Amino acid sequence: MPLKSERTTSNKLLKSINQQRVLRLIYTDGPISRVELAEKTGLTQQTITNIVNRFLEDDYVLETEPVSGSSGRKPIPLIVRSNEMFAIGIEIAVKYIRGALIDFQHRVIKEFKIDVPVYESKDHPLDFVRQTIDELLQHVPKTGQLKGIGCSIQGLVDAKQGAVIYSPGLRWREYPLREKLESLYDLPVYLENDANLLALVENLNGRLAGSVNNITIKFDYGIGGAIVLNNQLCTGATHVAGEFGHYKAFAGKYLHKCHCGASGCMTTLASVSGLKRNGGYAIETFGSLLDAGDPQAVALFAAIEEAAGLAISNLITIFNPDHVLFTGKLVDVLGQRLLPLLRNRIFATIPDSCKGVILEHLPITPDESTLAGGLVINRFFDVPLESFSM
Ligand SMILES: [Zn+2]
Repeated sequence: MPLKSERTTSNKLLKSINQQRVLRLIYTDGPISRVELAEKTGLTQQTITNIVNRFLEDDYVLETEPVSGSSGRKPIPLIVRSNEMFAIGIEIAVKYIRGALIDFQHRVIKEFKIDVPVYESKDHPLDFVRQTIDELLQHVPKTGQLKGIGCSIQGLVDAKQGAVIYSPGLRWREYPLREKLESLYDLPVYLENDANLLALVENLNGRLAGSVNNITIKFDYGIGGAIVLNNQLCTGATHVAGEFGHYKAFAGKYLHKCHCGASGCMTTLASVSGLKRNGGYAIETFGSLLDAGDPQAVALFAAIEEAAGLAISNLITIFNPDHVLFTGKLVDVLGQRLLPLLRNRIFATIPDSCKGVILEHLPITPDESTLAGGLVINRFFDVPLESFSM
C-alpha cells in the first residue's frame, strides 16, 4: 500500500490532470457545455461543475448565451476568455532582442525590438530582455491577465531546468535565465531553443503537422536544428541533439576553426556568421556577387551546397525522416538558388528506400517572439504527462 504522502501526491496530480483536461477542452472545443465536457472527459457532472466553478472564479472561463431553439433547460456554453489573457514572447538572438505581447488567440497586441551590435558581458543580454519586457508590460490591459513569459533562445537550452547551457553569441554558459526572470516578474517563464521551438510549432499546427518523424534545419546566424522521432522532440543526453551546425562538413581550403573547439563544422561557412567571418561575405550582397559570376563567391557557394547536401543526405539516411524542413535567414535570402541544388544532390545520394522523404521550406523565417508567446499558451493548457516535448 502506498504511503499517505504518495497518495496525496497522486491525488493532487490526478486532480490537476482532470482540471487541465477540462480547461484545454474548453479552449479547443468551446463553446462547450458542462454536459458535453462530462461526456468527453468521462468525469462526473459534479466534478465538472466544481472544476468549472473554479475557472469562473479565476476569470479563465466565460459563460455565453445559451443557444435558442432547444427545449427544456438550455445548457450554457462555456468559452475560455482568450481575448483577455495574454502572453509575452521574447526572441533572444545574437544580433537583436525582439518581443511580442499576444493574446490567447495568438493576436499580436504590441511588438518591440532592440538591435544589439554586440553583448559586452554575460548580464548584458538580460538588460535588453528586461527593457523589452518592461515596455510590453505597459500594454497589458489589466494586471493578472498576463499568464507568462516565453523565451526563444539561440543556444543550447535545458528547457526543463530553465537554463541556457551554452550560447557563445549571448556570452551565456550555465545561465539560470528562468530563475532570474521569475524573480523579477513573478510570472511563469518558459525557455526553448529557437530551432526546437520552431519545430514544435510546425509539428503542432504547421507544415509538419501530419509528420511523425522529421528534421528541421535552420540556416541562420548560426545553424540550429531539431529532430522529432515518433512525434517526440529528441534532445539527446546533453541537449546537443539536432545541433547540425557542428556536423563536420568542410575540409581542405575550406577548413576553419569553430567556436565549439573543433574544425570544419557546417556553421563555419554555411551560415550568416560563417559567410561573414570565414568567407568575408555579407549575406545581403552575396547573391549579387553570385549573379556577377565572382569566381571566389561562386566556388564558395558550390562548396557550401555540396557540403550541406551531403550532410543532409547522411542525416536522412541515419534518421529516416518523412519530412525535412529548411528555414533561416540563409534560406530566406539564398533559398531560390540553394534549395533546388540541395534537392538534386540529396535525392541523388540517399538510399532508394528513403526517397519518400518530403523536403519542405518556410517562405520566410517565422517571428520567434510570437512563437515564444505561443509557448506560454501551450504550457497554460498543457495536461501533465501528455506534454509534447521533454
Ligand atoms: Zn563546431
